Amino acid sequence: MRSKVFKCSDFGTKCDIEFRGANVEEVLAQAKKHAIEVHHLTPAEVDSPAITELIASRVREDDGS
Ligand SMILES: [Zn+2]
Repeated sequence: MRSKVFKCSDFGTKCDIEFRGANVEEVLAQAKKHAIEVHHLTPAEVDSPAITELIASRVREDDGS
């Protein structure tokens, strides 16, 4: 099954974590939760349009290869 994938390092962090989901919304939710818990961003920061657009623009199709 194909999934969407986003790497935390796409934020510019040195973090190797990847988020996977069936769609962009699932990946966004995981990435935002992680950013708050691990990188100490505030909910207001991760909910900003800039962050949402950054994540959405970098989410890739994982073809399982
Ligand atoms: Zn991270």
